[in-house]
Amino acid sequence: MIQTAYDLESLRSWRNSLKGSVGFVPTMGALHIGHGALLEKARQENDHVVLSVFVNPTQFDKKEDLEKYPSTLQQDIELAEKVGVDLIWVPTYPQLYPDGFKYKITEQDLSMKFCGAHRPGHFDGVLSIVMKLFNLVRPHCAYFGEKDYQQLTLIQGLVEAFFLDVKIIPVATVREESGLAYSSRNVHLSSEDKKIAPKLFEIIKNSSSAEEARHQLTEAGLKIDYVEDYGPRRLAAAYLGTTRLIDNVELK
Ligand code: AMP
Repeated sequence: MIQTAYDLESLRSWRNSLKGSVGFVPTMGALHIGHGALLEKARQENDHVVLSVFVNPTQFDKKEDLEKYPSTLQQDIELAEKVGVDLIWVPTYPQLYPDGFKYKITEQDLSMKFCGAHRPGHFDGVLSIVMKLFNLVRPHCAYFGEKDYQQLTLIQGLVEAFFLDVKIIPVATVREESGLAYSSRNVHLSSEDKKIAPKLFEIIKNSSSAEEARHQLTEAGLKIDYVEDYGPRRLAAAYLGTTRLIDNVELK
């Protein structure tokens, strides 16, 4: 049976009772098949699996985005139970931010680009919460999706910079048949948007340059935040109506 923890004491006493390896999947809930892939990998590779569900306010640059973020806790618990997660941890803001976010972690290079350039402070929020979650869960392995490639790269950098004793395991992006990456925010797409949304991946994958991709995406009706090549990847973010989609692809 899956266990639930809603306070730090329960999480700590669960953690202290364990022997063997701990795999950790941090999420903001509204779980989908993409999250499922992270959980399954964690299940295969560890003695114990913990999932956190916390919509982290400090990584939202827009109040409306935070307020409309979907929440489906009961379904999340069911999915987690199916995969064989041992503990689902649902902390609160006052528990995780006793200092009111006076202390934060800032990366000064990559975090300022791409999503960071369009969402000021976003990665300060991400890196700070990940550090807090790691310190509380003390996992051996933590699983992150390649869908959020910039986030994954920054977390790998965080682990290196602060000598954190955790192995970061990347998981390939899980997509719908149309090619659209699963995302909790996809529930906000209208049926018209849903027809256009798969073009984000299709175009960044098939275009010969970032510039060509920008041109084709605009023609397709997406409002671009950025499309840029970064190392071996092409990264993109664009709006369909008020829904922001992000994706990336390995360059051929
Ligand atoms: P989120 O709840 O959106 O913050 O995501 C929690 C974790 O799931 C992050 O590591 C994401 O990169 C990962 N994730 C989200 N969507 C997908 C997907 N479609 N495929 C693989 N991983 C994903």
